[in-house]
Amino acid sequence: MKPFEPEWVFFEPEALNYPLGEELYRRYKGSGIPVRMTTSHNRVTGIPGRTEAEKYRNAKRTLVVGVRKTLQFDTSKPSAEYALPLATGCMGHCHYCYLQTTMGNRPYVRVYVNLEEIFAAARKYIRERAPAITRFEAACTSDPVGVEHITGSLKRAIEFMGRQELGRLRFVTKYSHVDSLLDADHRGHTHFRFSINADHVVKFFEPGTSPLSDRLEAAGKVARAGYPLGFIIAPLMIFDGWKEGYGRMLEELRDRLPPEAEEGLTFELITHRFTKAAKRVILKRYPKTRLEMDEERRKKKWGKYGRVKYVYRDAEMEALKDYMEEWIGRLFPSAKILYFT
Ligand code: SF4
Repeated sequence: MKPFEPEWVFFEPEALNYPLGEELYRRYKGSGIPVRMTTSHNRVTGIPGRTEAEKYRNAKRTLVVGVRKTLQFDTSKPSAEYALPLATGCMGHCHYCYLQTTMGNRPYVRVYVNLEEIFAAARKYIRERAPAITRFEAACTSDPVGVEHITGSLKRAIEFMGRQELGRLRFVTKYSHVDSLLDADHRGHTHFRFSINADHVVKFFEPGTSPLSDRLEAAGKVARAGYPLGFIIAPLMIFDGWKEGYGRMLEELRDRLPPEAEEGLTFELITHRFTKAAKRVILKRYPKTRLEMDEERRKKKWGKYGRVKYVYRDAEMEALKDYMEEWIGRLFPSAKILYFT
């Protein structure tokens, strides 16, 4: 799978005042890809498309280069203290992706060029919490590896965090284009995680992302480069043959990982859930999806602000938990399962 190449690129005028913005402008101006200006990266108009669905697909092929104005970082509990904003939006088409609801009608891929300002804000947050460690999550609103070949921002963030005695970085990806990150001076401060799933889920619900075997190969490279490595298995789904599917995936993972990956290996397990609002958006954007979202077959769970999520019923949750924990324990005896939810 080739790295993402946009079909349209928009620039905020202010982005050209930063070296990365200027470099990207020069690169795209000479590339034959249409380049336009936009007054704000939050309101981009002029993305072509006759229907809603076409506009959505085209927006996912659109890159917007802007300046991150809000330097107040969102919190990212429980796995990190703050979200590190390097990009917003993703070129992937995972049917279940929560960005569908959080990004509303702005699904285009935004990258931010004022990296020094973003890092200065991170430094301030680290100082405030000293002597405690402060963790930053770089994949809250995008897949940062998916745009790394365009911006190089993730490598800079990794090296920035390597220099911070009390700063740590983490992110997760479904992309395998990791080569440019392998020689980064990370000093063990970055927890590099891959999102993986059974073949069935990757095939039917994750179009536009790297194939599982490529992600596993990339994970091996990342382990050999000395990064602390982890896997997020999400969303864990019940489908016909799910036990065999997840068992096979874990066996393949064990066979492909080099011995150095074992040290400090982590797993995070997240079961599939949906809200009514997400279901509406998903069915509009992917009308033929085979994603099971039958409220009758689920248990209601009240989240923040009284929002109802539909999760698997207790018996299915237990079956998933027992099965995954047993297999991970057997195949990766020294790995740690950070949580199952
Ligand atoms: Fe969403 Fe991640 Fe898929 Fe991108 S790769 S669409 S961020 S789930």
